[in-house]
Amino acid sequence: MSFFLPAFKFEKVTDITPDILRELGVELLILDVDNTIAPYGQVTLDNQVLSWAGELKAAGVGLYIVSNNKGQRPEIFSKLLDVPYIKRAGKPSPRGVREALENAGVPPDRAALAGDQIYTDTIAANLAKVKMMLVEPIRFTNPFLAIRYFFELPFRTGKKL
Ligand SMILES: [Mg+2]
Repeated sequence: MSFFLPAFKFEKVTDITPDILRELGVELLILDVDNTIAPYGQVTLDNQVLSWAGELKAAGVGLYIVSNNKGQRPEIFSKLLDVPYIKRAGKPSPRGVREALENAGVPPDRAALAGDQIYTDTIAANLAKVKMMLVEPIRFTNPFLAIRYFFELPFRTGKKL
């Protein structure tokens, strides 16, 4: 049951500030793509996300994209942000998250995962023992996403910072 529960909850990914991460001892922030840093289908990143990522990097926080997406967008965003990526990560399996930790050389207790979903991101983060930082989905582009969100509601808890 606790594998469904995020440690922290934010309105949007850009609310995860360098100060918060420093306070929690987080050196690596693993990023989900779809509905976390960009809506489904969008191939650009908003300026707000770009400048936020720049601030984190300037503060010494490593970023790593770990996405279940099978298409081109993980790579496109990886290039835009100049950060490494893993696609087809298979979340809720912790495989992709563990691979990112290993490649970055960061232990799980100094890492966090920012994502919008319970049944993929949160479970993967908890299985890999990294701090889950749940964000609200950017946009519901189809009814299925809204329905899934409804079934996630009981688990969409977490400490607000
Ligand atoms: Mg997502």
